[in-house]
Amino acid sequence: MTPLIIPAGTSPDDQASKRLGGPIHAERHVNIICIGAGPSGLLMAYKIQRHFRNYSLTVFEKNSGVGGTWFEQRYPGDDGRSVACDVPAHNYTWSFEPNPDFSAVYASGKEIYDYFNSFAAKYHLNEYIRGQHQVIGACWNNETAGYDVKIRDLRGGQEFSQHCDILINASGLLNNWKWPAIPGLDSYEGTLLHTSDWDENIDLTGKHVGLIGNGSTGVQILPQLQPIAKHVTTFIREPTWVSPVQGFEQHSFSDEERREFARKPQVLTEYRKGIERGLSGQFGIFLKDTKPNKDAHEYIAGQMREKLRNERLETQLIPKWAVGCRRFTPGVGYLESLGKDNVTVVVGEINQITGKGCLCDNGCEYPVDILICATGFDTTFKPRFHVIGPDGTNLQDQWKEEAQSYLGMAAAGFPNYLIFLGPNSPVGNGPLLSAIEAQADYMLQLIDRYQTRNIRSFAPTREAVSDFIVYKDNFMEKSVWADPCRSWYKNGRDGPVTGVWPGSTLHYIEAISEVRLEDWDVKYSGNRFAWLGNGYGQTELDRTADWGYYIREADDDSPATTGGRRMLLSKSGTVKNTGGMSLLGKQPEESIKVAKANL
Ligand code: NAP
Repeated sequence: MTPLIIPAGTSPDDQASKRLGGPIHAERHVNIICIGAGPSGLLMAYKIQRHFRNYSLTVFEKNSGVGGTWFEQRYPGDDGRSVACDVPAHNYTWSFEPNPDFSAVYASGKEIYDYFNSFAAKYHLNEYIRGQHQVIGACWNNETAGYDVKIRDLRGGQEFSQHCDILINASGLLNNWKWPAIPGLDSYEGTLLHTSDWDENIDLTGKHVGLIGNGSTGVQILPQLQPIAKHVTTFIREPTWVSPVQGFEQHSFSDEERREFARKPQVLTEYRKGIERGLSGQFGIFLKDTKPNKDAHEYIAGQMREKLRNERLETQLIPKWAVGCRRFTPGVGYLESLGKDNVTVVVGEINQITGKGCLCDNGCEYPVDILICATGFDTTFKPRFHVIGPDGTNLQDQWKEEAQSYLGMAAAGFPNYLIFLGPNSPVGNGPLLSAIEAQADYMLQLIDRYQTRNIRSFAPTREAVSDFIVYKDNFMEKSVWADPCRSWYKNGRDGPVTGVWPGSTLHYIEAISEVRLEDWDVKYSGNRFAWLGNGYGQTELDRTADWGYYIREADDDSPATTGGRRMLLSKSGTVKNTGGMSLLGKQPEESIKVAKANL
């Protein structure tokens, strides 16, 4: 007997009867569409390819290349790619795919882009990807139990539909950039730019440049503008905490150091682990009135004062609200730039944009030749295209007032629809890429169940989502994110916190390590036990398997409890001291030292 694989094109109702002719856990064909070939979409393609058989996968990507934000974002500088990553680059990689070649602790966006582009090439992921194809809508089809996805080919404008069983939205959170809502924007007669829609042909040399915004982007871009422009006037509406680059100082790795990282992978692994521990050790800072938060407050305020060395700026730029309320903005050279002779800092509201520049609430008009808006993104979490569920509801409407997710990855009422970095994912709670990996692994569990049990659809229940939201909102009251800062984490100043997870990244990884089926509304094709099939186990079909595999000399079972599994996974007992807050502690800097000493 050969293993039964239920072929593509089999209707959900046919599947149950087909299953009865084969052994347990027959794999039905699963047809997946993934939206976006940024880091999350690439990872999902990699993992599906690695773990699954009997599937088809199409990744629709609106850009002509992969890499998402790292493909799109270009800031001023030599090649338009002076955008950098403010997370140590060696930890801005997949856990299983290190890169010994990064040139510096904080590498350029070009290097990060190259990493993801090479990842796609190395694992032949491009064969799944259709570039310059934008998903413009998705509608649940009850007959086929999946989505009819509408796609526009951006090369010629043609539109077509493609069906899938499972739709994965990996289109990213921070890519729908927005202009500031300031009256008169259209009347500006100079050159108007948004940092996320950079025009590489613009020459800033000798120009008076205006910069609106002091979020992570504004903080990153000012030190790039300042040396090129004749003058920069930076408009700051609200103070922000500028942290000392997450405890690391910038370090450029020499060719020799990089060769050694490649030659001694264990040294690189130890270096990465040290940084990861440091990033994960920051979480206490995000809880109000805790010692870590108070210590961080004092430490960062001190660092800011030292770098600003200007009483007026210290009063205007050091926030009153808690450290961490807005995303940490590690600034390399930012505070120093504010004090340069060719930089004017204007703190307050811009009342109007005029033909010449910005008219501010101090009554002054500031004329500029080029106005750069580092004003962020639409972070409402509403998908950028309609997603229509079985009862005709559009997710864009369901999330109009507030985006309520199931653990950051799904929405009540939308079966077979999964989201990377959805509302309340841990995007600011610790390391990011490990959280994306955890989400991918969670999705694989769902897809595996879908493929091997005769599941027709799965969606989180409304009760589970609303319980999660109540839990999350209660938690947030104790967190610094609820402080009265204006932040995209709460889509402004007063909204519910939707941008971050109620806990640390490690907390999230543990939270989603197993699927809680009790939270899911699972519907089957036919009899729910059709997956039991004809009574044969899959093992009996495998002539090379040991049919007596459970006979052994001693009890070597894997841990049976949640705690036991976690201790095994986290290698509990193998590390002497994992403590360390990278902002304050020495651990990350020591990681570099240890790595260098070992090279
Ligand atoms: P952001 O954090 O939303 O900051 C937007 C800035 O624009 C704020 O300073 C805001 O002022 C200002 N602004 C918006 N509307 C304005 C108006 N009408 N008048 C005056 N100022 C206005 O956006 P972002 O800096 O682009 O960063 C967004 C996120 O992208 C970051 O939090 C981070 O997650 C990610 N990012 C990551 C990196 C990296 O290297 N990994 C780099 C850049 C960005 P208010 O503060 O007063 O609202």
